[in-house]
Amino acid sequence: MTDFTKTKAMFQIPVGTIYLDGNSLGPLPKDAPVRVANMLKDEWGDMLITGWNKAGWMQQPTSVGNRIARLIGAEENSVVMGDTLSIKVYQAVASALELNPTRKVILSDNGNFPTDLYMTNGLIRTLNEGHQLRTVNPEDIEAAIDDTVAVLLLTEVDYRTGRKHDMQRLTAKAHAAGVITIWDLAHSAGALPVDLSGCNADFAVGCTYKYLNGGPGAPAFIYVAPRHADKVRPALSGWLGHESPFAFDLDYQPGNGIERMRVGTPPVIALAVLEAALDIWDMADIKDVRAKSIELCDMFITEVEARCPQLTLDTTSDGTARGSQVSFRFADGYAVMQALIAEGVVGDFRAPDTIRFGFAPLYIDEADVMAAVDILENIMTNDLWNTGAFKTKSAVT
Ligand SMILES: *Cc1c(COP(=O)(O)O)cnc(C)c1O
Repeated sequence: MTDFTKTKAMFQIPVGTIYLDGNSLGPLPKDAPVRVANMLKDEWGDMLITGWNKAGWMQQPTSVGNRIARLIGAEENSVVMGDTLSIKVYQAVASALELNPTRKVILSDNGNFPTDLYMTNGLIRTLNEGHQLRTVNPEDIEAAIDDTVAVLLLTEVDYRTGRKHDMQRLTAKAHAAGVITIWDLAHSAGALPVDLSGCNADFAVGCTYKYLNGGPGAPAFIYVAPRHADKVRPALSGWLGHESPFAFDLDYQPGNGIERMRVGTPPVIALAVLEAALDIWDMADIKDVRAKSIELCDMFITEVEARCPQLTLDTTSDGTARGSQVSFRFADGYAVMQALIAEGVVGDFRAPDTIRFGFAPLYIDEADVMAAVDILENIMTNDLWNTGAFKTKSAVT
């Protein structure tokens, strides 16, 4: 059984803050600063360029990938770290399309995070081979899977509503129609158990700065099913994905398996932060995290619905059908969120009118949920959000 009191003590949460935004940026693991300071001093400082060999920097993208693999039900040596999620989406779509060369449609839903769609359209323009991105409503996705579709590109958990797709069923339906699947796990990794291997998924991508707590700009990951890994051709054929980068061969030869999805120099310092975060994940069982997250979200929904009738729930009340977040809609949602943040309850706002709260059991408990609801109720009942100061938008919401 995961000891959540112990995991909570391992994060730096500012006094007076109830942090319900770990779905956008997880908090700092307390061990990370020392870990990074040591890495800088002992490895970069003392070893200089020999750190690539002596400190294992060059292997980090796959060794850390294996630590992520455990959390997403992926096989050993099927996950590699690097770049940002947007880049990993591009790589996955490009490689998936090549596995299905006679078809031209990439199917997604209009609840997907915009960058996934932007990157896909950018790739389509570059390829200039008549591909087309088709987006339907999330609830219509299953019916839209047919044998014209080359690639199904879905984010498992909707970033706004928290609605969760059924990965097992949709992957099976896609495969029956000859479709290659790409799952974006941005709001799944560290939020709920994922079973890529059991679902027979083809590709998956995700970021590590949300529920995994790797810090701002933490590297993303990409998964390629072992059955495809030696067949896929990387669109971003960088030197560190080459089979022998230090041969400095002028011709590109893809590396072994997942190694070919590496692009350039790994972000060694950022990976050291992520390793500190993953040490906390080693103390947790993702099944316990999921059970507790459903409890916390249920409690928040029940209390807010009873005490803040002004807000409209925009997340399913079926715990198994959502991720680890709860959203409400309110016309002046932006101002409500600013009023909450001023009182120490940090969530975020998503246009046009959604206030969103993430619940990460590693550091959020029942007392936090009840205290957050008390503050929200006070703001709504007394219209404390209704001032000019709370209505002025900043660049990052
Ligand atoms: C957070 C998120 C991203 C962010 O992409 P970056 O390249 O890391 O900025 C992409 N896709 C989804 C589905 C997300 O939720």
